[in-house]
Amino acid sequence: MRKLALNPYRRKITSGFLLFAVLLVLNACSSDNSNAPSTSVNPFAPTNGSFNHNLGPGASAHEFLASDTYTQLVVEVQYMDGYKPTADAISQLKTFLENRLNKPSGISFIYTQIAPGGKTTYTLDDIAKMEENNRTEFTEGQKIAGYFLFLDGGYTEDTDKSKVLGVTYRNTSVAIFEKTIQSLTAQPTDPQRYVLEATVYEHEFGHVLGLVNNGSPMQTDHEDASHPHHCDNSNCLMNWQVESGGVVGNLFGTNPIPTLDQNCLDDLKANGGK
Ligand SMILES: [Zn+2]
Ligand SMILES: [Zn+2]
Repeated sequence: MRKLALNPYRRKITSGFLLFAVLLVLNACSSDNSNAPSTSVNPFAPTNGSFNHNLGPGASAHEFLASDTYTQLVVEVQYMDGYKPTADAISQLKTFLENRLNKPSGISFIYTQIAPGGKTTYTLDDIAKMEENNRTEFTEGQKIAGYFLFLDGGYTEDTDKSKVLGVTYRNTSVAIFEKTIQSLTAQPTDPQRYVLEATVYEHEFGHVLGLVNNGSPMQTDHEDASHPHHCDNSNCLMNWQVESGGVVGNLFGTNPIPTLDQNCLDDLKANGGK
């Protein structure tokens, strides 16, 4: 899975910020679905051939991008009290998806507040279990469903120098460390909150869409050799870091949210996207 992180120490020096992402391996024990919703078919371990929501990031990239199987996308947004994503950021994400995904029946978002997790930091196992206990929207018929969980705490691997902002941990599932995002956008000199939010949300969805070289095959070689599943273009949304210089300048400029470069766009189009 991928996580997007920020380095506040470096940010202090550069007045910018550093985002990075690291590949982790989904713990096999996440297939323990004892807390799964009491549906007739377990969506995280289907036994009847229906859509499996417990695959790795990027495994369903084509299904999200193309319209041959699924013509509609519903993104379920579940958030803890005080950590609902801003409407501006979700609007940015919706436009980003509409520009890349062939979903003629539309892209919509459903919001639900869930009980606070109450932890300072969360493990991937914590996150996976919360999804299994709370998620209600699943892929069926011509509708593919995505899931975003907005947390009231940080990630267990956070350090003083590095804070994880988001993690894509399953084929349709993303967790956002919204408390950390809020803490980094609280001052007038910080980026606007919706800008940092949208940057993280779109980057994580890029991993759901199989970027880079993880579900959407590369049309041109552009995977960063040092940072698997990230783009080698320092200006691209899918680069492992977005730090000082032109990129951070963009975060404060007229069009502050990083965009996908041509190589990433080509990969999505070749895998069924726009
Ligand atoms: Zn990443
Ligand atoms: Zn790129």
